[in-house]
Amino acid sequence: MKILVLPGDGIGPEITEATLRVLEVADRRFGLGLEFEMADIGLKSLAEQGTTLPDAVLERIPEVDGVILGPVSHYDYPTKQEGGFNPSAELRVRFQLFANVRPCRSRVGLSILRTPMDLIIVRENTEGFYSDRNMFAGTGEFMPDENSAFSIRKVTARASERVARAAFELARDRRKKVTAVHKANVVKLSDGLFLREVRKVAAEYPDVELQELIVDATAALLVKRPEQFDVIVTTNMFGDILSDEASELSGSLGLGGSLNLGEEIAVAQAQHGSAPDIAGRGIANPTSLILSAAMLLDWRGRQDGDQRLVDAAAAIQAAVEQAIDNPDTRTGDIGGTLGTEEFAAHVLAHLGQNVTAATTS
Ligand code: NAD
Repeated sequence: MKILVLPGDGIGPEITEATLRVLEVADRRFGLGLEFEMADIGLKSLAEQGTTLPDAVLERIPEVDGVILGPVSHYDYPTKQEGGFNPSAELRVRFQLFANVRPCRSRVGLSILRTPMDLIIVRENTEGFYSDRNMFAGTGEFMPDENSAFSIRKVTARASERVARAAFELARDRRKKVTAVHKANVVKLSDGLFLREVRKVAAEYPDVELQELIVDATAALLVKRPEQFDVIVTTNMFGDILSDEASELSGSLGLGGSLNLGEEIAVAQAQHGSAPDIAGRGIANPTSLILSAAMLLDWRGRQDGDQRLVDAAAAIQAAVEQAIDNPDTRTGDIGGTLGTEEFAAHVLAHLGQNVTAATTS
């Protein structure tokens, strides 16, 4: 399996290095045949090549089996004309990574929730309120005068249908419930279209329950009754916000994995941003990117019928959970004292033990 690795900005290089260490051990122990190819994006490639997203990177993506994308500091980028492309958005649109899959599970002792949370948010990834990806030409945001600004929101039947299908497929293997989150009481046309497509897909999955919920109520219910959610499907910005909320409720923004799913390619990407406030200090929690990389292995394994990749993903996930479960082996963001590398070393130790136990039992 060829993996293109794009470390990104801020804490990106630190958490990517920790993630690669985990993958290299999994590779050796499960005989996965992983090949890593590193490439610069973001502020580093901007300084060296004049763009945050070099053409060579874009050309390579269709030729590999998966991509690991570190967080990027796109808020600090210059305009596109000056080479400042948001790699995250560009990859999602160019390679039609239509579903952003974000699991969230609460951990005892870390979560502030009174009842357990174990859900997946499936977020539409290519349109919605994110106006920078909504136009063939020109920009979806404009200012007719200095005191008025407009932003174009786009919802299409095709994008709604395919993200809904991804959600129902996931729910089928879980607790068989999909909650479609919307604001169709106000944005009647666009969220009405989204719901129309979700209902059409739901009719093909009679074994899966469909619930429809308004986004503000969902935000509250995530806190009050998180156990009622299994798979949530929603439009781009609602999914972005709700998944951060769910992640934080589960213990920390640094804990949730995230996979951008396309027909042919998937991109593993941490849920959080580039955390410039702690970059370079070796204290970032690498869990989100490690779990995202495990999701990538699992996805590829299922696509190709390669059980070794699926097993390796499960072992990595179990090792991460074991490290997090122990208060003595946690990073600072979740009340521990360990830095990025030390935490990764504990994940590696658990990974080794899990594999030894599995092969000797
Ligand atoms: P952020 O997610 O980077 O940070 C929010 C807070 O969480 C900060 O206090 C940070 O220190 C902490 N945090 C985040 N990840 C952590 C981790 N792994 N371990 C420990 N603490 C962690 O959000 P922000 O500060 O709003 O954005 C910073 C930059 O990241 C901006 O340029 C923004 O545009 C960008 N961003 C990128 C992505 C992405 O690449 N997918 C997503 C969101 C934001």
